[in-house]
Amino acid sequence: MRHLLSIEDLDRAGIERICDRAASFAEVADRSIKKVPALRGRTVLNLFYESSTRTRSSFELAAKRLSADVVNFAASGSSVEKGESLRDTVQTLAAHRPHAIVVRTPWAGASQLITNWTDAAIVNAGDGQHEHPTQALLDVYTLRSRLGSLDGLDVWIVGDVRHSRVARSLVLALQTMGATVTVCGPPTLVPRDIAVLGCDVRYTLDELPRADVVYALRMQNERMEQAYVPTLREYAAVYQIDARRLGPDQLLMHPGPVNRGVELAGDVVDGPRSLILDQVRAGVLVRMAVLFEVLAGREDGPRPTAPPTQETPA
Ligand code: ASP
Repeated sequence: MRHLLSIEDLDRAGIERICDRAASFAEVADRSIKKVPALRGRTVLNLFYESSTRTRSSFELAAKRLSADVVNFAASGSSVEKGESLRDTVQTLAAHRPHAIVVRTPWAGASQLITNWTDAAIVNAGDGQHEHPTQALLDVYTLRSRLGSLDGLDVWIVGDVRHSRVARSLVLALQTMGATVTVCGPPTLVPRDIAVLGCDVRYTLDELPRADVVYALRMQNERMEQAYVPTLREYAAVYQIDARRLGPDQLLMHPGPVNRGVELAGDVVDGPRSLILDQVRAGVLVRMAVLFEVLAGREDGPRPTAPPTQETPA
């Protein structure tokens, strides 16, 4: 795999391969020295034009645990504020010859565009409301670790589907892995054409009890130019997942950040059915696997060594 731009770059075997590799890295996270030399001598540039807590920290940790050198670039505080374009910024930073660039921007398709400007492997860490492939991979990994297989699993994605890059990548990844997906939310926040991805569409939670997994989404206010619901209180009254709506056998997921009291009630976030922190932990492992995968085929510099099976000092 040269780049990871879209979850469509991966078939089922590819998703399974990344999950298996992530699982092989899980043992590194349990060591006292959480580092292996797999990407020693490689440079990973994290290029973030949008705010991020989980994705940025986990890509940084992932690269460092593989012994890569990491450069973190945030648009705020950089020459972007002086008017430098995306292309000039990428070409400036690419002059340092990073082996991989992890990129998050508010613009759909930007990571694809960047592949034309540098030889580095590009990993899409979220491009506007288009895609967030590593989120979908870590969600698959989390479910696979918990349940063994996703075949026949019934997953409901509830909330602001319209503005969510997570939803788009996740619907495709879950279906590729054999799950059935239903997206649900107010009609204003569920685009009618989402059904072309093969998922079911619902506008009420009436059938939610049949779900095995409930995946809640935040209101993506930063991408809204108008109000899509009358008030958050009314939205929460109809769509919030709380202890009353979440069944005792249903698992709860959320990509974060959670707006407690809006899409999720606080008690379910912290409750026993919540996989939210498992998702965060999986993020580092899956991103280690993705960085390893895109850098494994690179010709410049030493080839990465195989993933560890036993304690290897970095
Ligand atoms: N963290 C996810 C994203 O960057 C989800 C969210 O922000 O709501 O898309």
